[in-house]
Amino acid sequence: MDTRTGEGCRFAFNVRWLDPNTHLIWHYQLFYYTHDQSIEMFDIKNQRIFLKRVSHPEIHLEHLYLGASISLYSRQLIIESYGDEFSRKHLQGFQETTFALIKPDGIKNMGRIIDLIFSNGFLIKELRMCKLSVEDARNFYKIHSGKPFYEALTQFMASGLCVAMDLVAENAVRRWRTLLGPTNSQDARDRDPNSIRALFGTDSTQNACHGSDSLESAKQESDFFFRDRNFGSCARLENCTLCIIKPHLVFDGVAGQVIDLVLKKFDVTAMEMVTFSQPNAAEFYEIYKGVLPDFHAMVHELASGPFIAMEISNKDGQGNPVSSFREFCGPPDSQACRIVRPNTLRAKYGINKIKNGVHCTDLPEDGVLECKFIFKHSFNPFVDAMEYTNHNLR
Ligand code: UDP
Ligand code: MG
Repeated sequence: MDTRTGEGCRFAFNVRWLDPNTHLIWHYQLFYYTHDQSIEMFDIKNQRIFLKRVSHPEIHLEHLYLGASISLYSRQLIIESYGDEFSRKHLQGFQETTFALIKPDGIKNMGRIIDLIFSNGFLIKELRMCKLSVEDARNFYKIHSGKPFYEALTQFMASGLCVAMDLVAENAVRRWRTLLGPTNSQDARDRDPNSIRALFGTDSTQNACHGSDSLESAKQESDFFFRDRNFGSCARLENCTLCIIKPHLVFDGVAGQVIDLVLKKFDVTAMEMVTFSQPNAAEFYEIYKGVLPDFHAMVHELASGPFIAMEISNKDGQGNPVSSFREFCGPPDSQACRIVRPNTLRAKYGINKIKNGVHCTDLPEDGVLECKFIFKHSFNPFVDAMEYTNHNLR
């Protein structure tokens, strides 16, 4: 089949959808036309068009990578594989994944580092803050065991929080290593002053970030951090409030700027990229059901793509941060917020009442509950839709 269509290309993917009502798993072919950003879907079982070709300017080709979850007419679709050879050949290199780690000395600058990741064209596919034990650090860096710096390196890696990420881009492995710069931060400042290690690293051991050196190590290192969801879990679940950087800001690549602003006033004590199914989002917002007229639109936005959740604590770790963090975010409607509280997060980053940049916990007694909801659960949107339905049927 000719895959060229006018000026653009047609890319094909195999996607699945779990119908939360019937428990049936549906398999579709999804076609994406770059020319007009339109999508068409074909029902494989019944051999017929399921969705006529229609433009979806909110969905970009780079959002369609293997394992991605996209929301289309309230259906959560998971991309399982490429649908044809043309798509595989053209997208595989473009969609290379590498593993990145912000080391303990880089954490205070993690907002700026994440901003550089986005502004250099990477997408973040997975992200989780964690705390390594010395034993974890020894395992992660076992290829360096016996070297003179091994002891100091592993002690340093276990001395504070880290942020693990899977980054997607064309030639991601090489490009991330280039953006990091030389291993020794002092050399980096001489030879590549705009590199991440030059800007945020300290010396030859404390160099702000790690990057995989090959596709094989990227896979291994990503599995090390992400296979066991509870690995290095760091949420405190006390004296905390929840902040969610909503999907529209993650799509727009400005999450790093938001994190940087938050860090100026508060501590971030846990962080994770999460994708909600519609039922997850409805459960999370349950207290607003029947109270806020925009409930369904809010659920739809929260389930529209990956978001970044943060557990926020006061800098001294004491006291309840819920109300001070709400002040920092501003009133819920971003348009009104720009008039009455122009220096708040929602005034700066929100668009309207629904796409208002961030969610923050409302009630002082709910900070811990909302953090538990996020950091104590596993949200595979595919599995969860099924669990949710089972739960509701019991
Ligand atoms: N390292 C060190 N002293 C050295 C070389 C490396 O402490 O002389 C640390 C540094 O944190 C580095 C890590 O060990 O990032 C892994 O070393 P590698 O040679 O793999 O450098 P990288 O791949 O991180 O650039
Ligand atoms: Mg290395």
